Amino acid sequence: MQARRRDTTDFNLPPMPLIVQKFGGSSVANPEKILRAARRAIRAQQEGNQVVMVVSAMGDTTDDLLDLAAKITDKPPAREMDMLLSTGEQVSVALMAIAIHSLGHQAVSLTGAQIGVKTDGTFRKARIRSIETARLRKLLDEGNIVIAAGFQGIDDHFNITTLGRGGSDTTAVALAAVLRADACEIYTDVDGVYTTDPRVVPEARRVGRIGYDEMLELASLGAGVMHSRSIEFGKKFDVPIHVRSSFTDQPGTMIVAEPERPDLPVSGAAITKDEALITVQGVPDKPGTSLEIFARIAAKNISVDMIVQNVGESGKADISFTVPQNELAAALDAVRDADLIVGAEAIASDDQVAKVSVVGLGMARQTGVAQKMFRALADAGINIQMITTSEIKISVLVSRDRAAEALRIVHHAFSLDEEPHSPIRPLTPHAAAGDAAEIVSRLQSMNMEDLTIDEISLDNTQARVTISGVPDKPGIAAKVFEDVAAAGVFVDMIVQSHPAAGGHPSIGGSATLSFTVPQNQLSKSVDAARRIAQNLGCKGVSSSPIIAKLSVSGVGLRTHTGVAIRMFKALAEAGINLEMINTSEVRVNVVVEGLSGEKGLKQLQTAFADVMR
Ligand code: ADP
Ligand code: ASP
Ligand code: MG
Repeated sequence: MQARRRDTTDFNLPPMPLIVQKFGGSSVANPEKILRAARRAIRAQQEGNQVVMVVSAMGDTTDDLLDLAAKITDKPPAREMDMLLSTGEQVSVALMAIAIHSLGHQAVSLTGAQIGVKTDGTFRKARIRSIETARLRKLLDEGNIVIAAGFQGIDDHFNITTLGRGGSDTTAVALAAVLRADACEIYTDVDGVYTTDPRVVPEARRVGRIGYDEMLELASLGAGVMHSRSIEFGKKFDVPIHVRSSFTDQPGTMIVAEPERPDLPVSGAAITKDEALITVQGVPDKPGTSLEIFARIAAKNISVDMIVQNVGESGKADISFTVPQNELAAALDAVRDADLIVGAEAIASDDQVAKVSVVGLGMARQTGVAQKMFRALADAGINIQMITTSEIKISVLVSRDRAAEALRIVHHAFSLDEEPHSPIRPLTPHAAAGDAAEIVSRLQSMNMEDLTIDEISLDNTQARVTISGVPDKPGIAAKVFEDVAAAGVFVDMIVQSHPAAGGHPSIGGSATLSFTVPQNQLSKSVDAARRIAQNLGCKGVSSSPIIAKLSVSGVGLRTHTGVAIRMFKALAEAGINLEMINTSEVRVNVVVEGLSGEKGLKQLQTAFADVMR
């Protein structure tokens, strides 16, 4: 049976619904699976929809292509890698179109370039600027199933680019956005989004609905089920995303604006196994130091996470941060360049670490969440090397060989394997529809993946407490925050770093733990910290009675490597020194000295004026 043909001039027909269906590598791994996906798309068309399929490379093809190049050299040109990697998707779209034809239906396959997926020129991590729709619309109106190659685009010079590993999800959601699709279905080898990776923690539970912010954070912290940039598109352009199994007809998980249970302190956990830690020790504690370092790393498009800066008594600071393990060498090159200017005492790195995180929208409004995570790890004897928290996530760095165990323990500690008791909040009617006119104008007025900032704010109600010389052994963070909580103190931000980046005992090793508290709780916090320091044999306690927390909120703040840099630059130019930093996908917070708050706020407002929504 042929699909209903549409003539764009036929105004009597109601508009036909449009569905984007994306099939991941495992869902097109062999001819049978390709045929199965083809039948699903045909069925959707027969049910009265226009259908755009987005297809990934078959099975492990992308990995195989990477291995092939690695057999020739360990430094292949990025442009040629994109030329190579894009072939994986080209094979699958052609086979998918062949499959649909063999089943007696019309289909046309298109590469990213043929569609007009225009990207910037950053090979291996290109960002989508715009997508043309005229050809897609015409082919759909002629009754074709259109099969789009995921993960690829073309830059201004007609070079083929790829969007980064897992990027077909981003192609799918971006296409759904520009076509104003009625549904965007992501078919994969799991039947939805789970509380954590079910391959690592079999007791993980599938969730029915999850919010963009939580999913963005989870994806960026390692939940590989969705490419995090696809969720940026979903959030920015209000595309509801349905993640479901390609092997059944059961509904999966909806990713939408409103989560099922917005009050849950923790709704998911994630692991980034391949993380590496860099510590730059003994740099002068003055404005501009972080900028020198991070600007060079950002220039290489490496996203940095878990930034912790500790100020020592000697007027020198230690800066620690994590980068993806496969970018460690490039990041170290950048740090060594910066070192020529900043003059550090030592640079150390550890590539045997992993990051375990918990995410939850309700976390900001509840006490004891961090403490519960630290206690669970302490009871298992797992050492926490680094801590950073933001409003909706807590991340800890642990040794890689215990990371999967740490994830399981944390998942269990927050009872993520059990259905929560709180009732599911129904979706507000029309919430998913958004303001269509506003969205369309947004789509036309900017590069699709441009940075957008929603808010810049100043909180000057807090104070900081720092405990230095904290012994580097399991259980310390748990003890500290249990005692602080017992004193009735409400802790906001926590950062802890351990300067002896593994394998470099010569640098010496104790941790520095800083946290922020309400100003009117400072004296009791300092008393508690002193008692703790004494009991645990720490070096000392220092504090700052007024600090200013400056926050920039938006979408995709970590993947846009330039956001933190803009903040550092704006503050350094005004001679403002950074005391604490934390980053998440939706927010970057920096703590500066209290009296600089207003000035810092003005600096940031100017620095981000061009990207404010
Ligand atoms: P595809 O090839 O379809 O894009 P991926 O391998 O990229 O599939 O993503 C699916 C995998 O993501 C699952 O098999 C699962 O192991 C992993 N995963 C990680 N975190 C999660 C999570 N929170 N929920 C579901 N799956 C997850
Ligand atoms: N084939 C690409 C990859 O393996 C893109 C994708 O599957 O999403 O990363
Ligand atoms: Mg994927």
